[in-house]
Amino acid sequence: MFRLVILGSGASLPTLQRHCAAVAVQFEGDLHLFDCGEGTQLQWRRAALRFGRLRAIHISHLHGDHLNGLVGLMQTMSLGGREPELQVSGPPGLKDFLEAIRRFQGVRLAYPLRVVESTGGMLVRGSGYRIDCALLDHGPATLGFSLTEDERPGRFDVQSAEKLGLPAGPDYGRLQNGETVIAPDGKEIRPEQVLGPPRPGRKLAYCVDTRPCEAAVDLARGACLFVCDSTFGTDLEHEAGARGHGTAAQAASMALEAGVERLLLTHISARYHDPRPLLAEARAVFAATEMATDLMEVLV
Ligand SMILES: [Zn+2]
Repeated sequence: MFRLVILGSGASLPTLQRHCAAVAVQFEGDLHLFDCGEGTQLQWRRAALRFGRLRAIHISHLHGDHLNGLVGLMQTMSLGGREPELQVSGPPGLKDFLEAIRRFQGVRLAYPLRVVESTGGMLVRGSGYRIDCALLDHGPATLGFSLTEDERPGRFDVQSAEKLGLPAGPDYGRLQNGETVIAPDGKEIRPEQVLGPPRPGRKLAYCVDTRPCEAAVDLARGACLFVCDSTFGTDLEHEAGARGHGTAAQAASMALEAGVERLLLTHISARYHDPRPLLAEARAVFAATEMATDLMEVLV
């Protein structure tokens, strides 16, 4: 199961209501951070997340509202005695940025850093999940991300097990784990005799700072939760396009096209003190839409 925590749901500049872009996603013991706007490490603390569990930070692009918290967070973890390697991934230019910081700030980290520049494909092969990225349509190279759980075993059919003469007990768990067991009458029972067809894994997608585009729809295809750029309302659709962003209604159209279960609007412009009109515009297109707020948690 994925646990997603919105650390920053704002756009461009931090306000008292919304920090700049940052989303933490936990899958079992692994934590991943997507974008790291200014102040993300404080939001991380407010959300009571553990620095030691952070496996990788994925930066969508090199604009400040997605990046300005990165160096501070990396330094804090170093001062805290982190030892495991940290992966930092993002579009081309990330290595130059981090090298410049190292040269001019003299940053020395106590742990190994692995910088991964990408324009698409798999970024992480985790235990039970994977993270992929693709280039969106913003202007500067900008990545969208998807997290996909591995295929899950089919549902356990208790009636079939009972018919085969296997009483409830630890053997049920062994069969669910793919093991063959022996029934009390000595007959062998294989997992496929008591499990339904394999079920696809759950999926999340995170696409911000983009105009509506096919790459975002592809990343979100079939997702349980799609976290999407909604910087503007329909009133400023022209400005959204000119600045490489999207509107709430456009996010909803992509959610519809991608066949997602739920849409979460984020990267909300500070001009929308009351974001309810944006939510209404999106829901008119795609009903299962919510508005992100800082420190909101979603389980998928
Ligand atoms: Zn942004």
